Amino acid sequence: MIAENFHRIQQDLAGSQARLVAVTKTHPVERLREAYEAGARLFGENRVQEMAAKLPELPPDVEWHLIGHLQTNKVKYIASFVHTIQSIDSLKLLLEIEKQAAKHQRVIEGLLQFHIAQEETKTGLSLPEAEEILQSGATRALRHVRLTGVMGIATNTPDEQQLRREFQELRGIFEHLRARYFAQDEGFRELSMGMSSDYRLALEEGSTLIRVGSAIFGAR
Ligand SMILES: *Cc1c(COP(=O)(O)O)cnc(C)c1O
Repeated sequence: MIAENFHRIQQDLAGSQARLVAVTKTHPVERLREAYEAGARLFGENRVQEMAAKLPELPPDVEWHLIGHLQTNKVKYIASFVHTIQSIDSLKLLLEIEKQAAKHQRVIEGLLQFHIAQEETKTGLSLPEAEEILQSGATRALRHVRLTGVMGIATNTPDEQQLRREFQELRGIFEHLRARYFAQDEGFRELSMGMSSDYRLALEEGSTLIRVGSAIFGAR
């Protein structure tokens, strides 16, 4: 089932430049291995401990993406291996990632997470908050974090118009930041949006990274 689901979603990506992050949170490593066998290489987890525990159980060419809220005191547990932290929501966190990545002489990719949903509970930056981070001298001095784009979680709603509006908002933010702060940097290229229920719409609105869990692995 996992392989079939994975291939079906890959089909949906054919013709676009977008890539699929298989969201594996709560699933045991046997199921991750099944997805790996089917061709999945980007894995998304939302908890530090769970990701660190799964790491040794999978081949080394897996690209691990942290997609959940990250406390600064936990960065050290994943800094030696995490490929991308999609959930950067403060300058403090950004600087801690820089510090921990430097210890391992690595560069970690990072996405700024934006609040685009109507729900109060979904975390993330506003555009002014992000600009404050990007304008700070500390951010310009980063050597071990490379900001490669933005991430957002849309409202959990069947309302397609609303979902499109939220995806368009995030795309607007991405394009604004790229033009203003990353005009010389081709590395700023990722627009991470779309989950199991809304990834097709997200792709139509320009997503480059979809994060899909239950449509591959079933309900959690
Ligand atoms: C769990 C999660 C997903 C995947 O959700 P599904 O609905 O299972 O596809 C995507 N993004 C984030 C940030 C998540 O926490």
